[in-house]
Amino acid sequence: MNSEDQSLELKIDAIKRELLKLGPLQPGSLSQQYNVCGKPGCRCKADPPQKHGPYYQISYTRRGKSSSRFVTRAAVPLVKQQLLNYERLRELVDRWIELSTKLCTNQVAELKCARKKPASGASD
Ligand SMILES: [Zn+2]
Repeated sequence: MNSEDQSLELKIDAIKRELLKLGPLQPGSLSQQYNVCGKPGCRCKADPPQKHGPYYQISYTRRGKSSSRFVTRAAVPLVKQQLLNYERLRELVDRWIELSTKLCTNQVAELKCARKKPASGASD
């Protein structure tokens, strides 16, 4: 194994260690909403309107299926961290794939080189 391969493997090992540290993963995004209610004379229909909210909502799509749910204001910091964990996962996996692809290419090239070397005393 050459020194570039060793360096790639060290970087991949570091990524694997980072992955082990990741907390719960939440794909998607957090949005804020302001709503209007049906109560007559409510402040949300005043001029200017004072809508209700903000309400926080998390939305995500998995396997082609979209989901969303409301989260309380108290849960917002936790949800933000969960979303960051997921983003971090994606970054780490992308980086892993990038490094690993290089490593795979090198390994195949090295195999070719090794086979080109004349074997001592061998003949067809
Ligand atoms: Zn209202």
